[in-house]
Amino acid sequence: MTPPAFATVLVFLDPAFENGRLADATQPQLMATDQGATRGDGVFESLLAVGGRARKLQAHLSRLAGSARALELGIPAEDAWRRAVETAIGEYRSAHPAAIPEEDEVVVKLIVTRGVEGASSPTCWVQASPVPAAGRRQRESGIDVILLDRGYDSDIAERAPWLLLGAKTLSYAVNMAALRHAHKQGADDVIFTSADGRVLEGPTSTVLLAHLETSDGGAGGGGGGSAVKRLITPQLDSGILPGTSQGALFAAAKAAGWELGYGPLEPQDLMDADAVWLISSIRLLAPVNHIDGQEIGTPAVRKQLTAELSELFAGIE
Ligand code: PLP
Repeated sequence: MTPPAFATVLVFLDPAFENGRLADATQPQLMATDQGATRGDGVFESLLAVGGRARKLQAHLSRLAGSARALELGIPAEDAWRRAVETAIGEYRSAHPAAIPEEDEVVVKLIVTRGVEGASSPTCWVQASPVPAAGRRQRESGIDVILLDRGYDSDIAERAPWLLLGAKTLSYAVNMAALRHAHKQGADDVIFTSADGRVLEGPTSTVLLAHLETSDGGAGGGGGGSAVKRLITPQLDSGILPGTSQGALFAAAKAAGWELGYGPLEPQDLMDADAVWLISSIRLLAPVNHIDGQEIGTPAVRKQLTAELSELFAGIE
C-alpha cells in the first residue's frame, strides 16, 4: 500500500529514548489487546503547532495530567512529553515543509492508553498530522449547528465522578455519533444541552457567546459610541471539559477590555446573542451562523466580532 502523501509522524514515549522513539505510522505499533483499543480506556489531548511551536502546551499538559488522575493512570513527567512533542513537530515539518507560512500548522495529539491487561505502565505516544481542510474552511465560512440533548443533568459530574465528564478520555464514540447525527440533518456541528435545559458544549469544542450593549443600555452595539462587550461561556462545573482555548481567549479578551461571564446558559441565550462560536484548539473560532435553523445575530456583527476575537486568539503563545 502506498503511504498517504502527508504521513502521520509517531513518537512513542520510551525511557530508552530521551527524546522519544520514532515509529512508522504505516506499520502496526499497538497490541490489538491494548485497552485503549478494546475499551477506549485512556486519555488524550489535541493541540495545534504553528510555525513549529506548540500552542498552549502547558495548559494541555496540565489537562492531560488531570484527565490521567481521574482515570488513575500514572503518566510520564511533563518534560518527557515536551521532548516527544518537539521531536514529532520537528520530524513532521522536515518531511512536509509548508509552502506558505499560513499553512505551517500541525495537529499534535498526545495519547495515553491503559496498555494491555496487566501492563505495569500505560502506552504513551505523540502523533503529528495535517490540519483537516474542513476545519480551516469552517473558521472562514462559519457553521450551522443543532442542539442535542446529552441526557444528563448539569450537576451530574459532581454526583457521579465515575462518568469522567471533566476528563478528556479516548471514549469519543458518543461525540462522533452526535456529529454524524448532525451531518445527516444537514448541519455541521452540535451543541449539547443537559436534561435540565442548560447549554453544555460541542462534541469537540467549547461554546462561547457575545453580547454587545451600547452605553445607553441598548442591545446590538451597532450605533457606534462606547459599547460594553461581554463574552460568556457555560459554567465550567456543569459536566463539560474545561477548554484550553476558552481559558486562553478569556484572559486575552479581559486584557482587551471585554467583560467575561460564566453561565448558566439556556438555549434562548444562544438565540438572543449577537454572536456564538464553537472554539477549540485545532479549528480555532468557528462562528455559528444558525442554530436549529435560526440565524444568530447578523452576518456583519458575526464577521466583525470573529475578526476581533480571532486576532486576540492568534496572539496567544
Ligand atoms: N469540549 C470537548 C468535549 C472537546 O473535545 C474539546 C476539544 O477537543 C473542547 C471542549 C475544546 O478544548 P480545547 O479548547 O482545549 O481544544
